Amino acid sequence: MKLCRFDNDRLGVVQGDVIRDVTAALEELPRVTYPLPRFDPLIANLPQVRRRIEAMLSKAATVPLAYATLLSPIANPGKIMAAPVNYKAHLQEVLDNAEIHHQNKIDEIHRAGIFLKATSSLVGPAEGVALNYLERRNDHEIELVAVIGKTAKKVSRAQALQHIAGYTIGLDMTIRGPEERSFRKSGDSYTVLGPWFVTADEIGDIGNLGLALSVNGEARQQANTRDLILGVAELIEFASSFYTLHPGDVLMTGTPEGVGPVKPGDVMVARIDRIGEMRVEVRAG
Ligand code: MN
Repeated sequence: MKLCRFDNDRLGVVQGDVIRDVTAALEELPRVTYPLPRFDPLIANLPQVRRRIEAMLSKAATVPLAYATLLSPIANPGKIMAAPVNYKAHLQEVLDNAEIHHQNKIDEIHRAGIFLKATSSLVGPAEGVALNYLERRNDHEIELVAVIGKTAKKVSRAQALQHIAGYTIGLDMTIRGPEERSFRKSGDSYTVLGPWFVTADEIGDIGNLGLALSVNGEARQQANTRDLILGVAELIEFASSFYTLHPGDVLMTGTPEGVGPVKPGDVMVARIDRIGEMRVEVRAG
């Protein structure tokens, strides 16, 4: 099932070029009161919501996908986790860059661990990316994103995939420079998730998904998840050895080679096999 959040926080199921509006399926979500939970209520209750959606789907009103304002499919992730350099060829690209040729980045994923991005940086594709510090280089990074479905603490890689609700496409936008990653990657709109969330049962083998990003029609990044240094299961094992993962937490799995600059006016198109494609405009912040 492909679930999207669109227009004024409506919930939809994407089928071809239409969205079926299943917002009413949210009416049965347990009420959330202060103090707010650490999880995303939709993802935490996904099995029940899904049953309700399936019951109403054939009668749900349709909206053309082309006219919908697509928001981040995960509304309230408790944390946005992200892997540093995690593709073999991107590692070489980083090592070839004189500015940052100072350490072995494979070691770094084990040494530096996983980093966090501010949840306030999160937007959906229709909102676009608003660049800060235009005098500095701002790069695109396409990433496969796993959405945690169940509370996970110290899970083994063998059990890890059972804790995933589904997947989406992520853009980990980055200002180049000397500051901490969490700072350079956390400006407003520097995390894009979309175009929708695909439940894990529709994805199949996550170890063989093609991903591609173009800017103004020019191919920039093209890779396959088979070249991940730490796969999704290993990343979840690693992350959950440090902190508890909650439903709706998102894990950005790292970007492949081909990262490059964007400027206001550019249009990025990001695509991942079996998820889909999203178009994201870039403007000045
Ligand atoms: Mn990244």
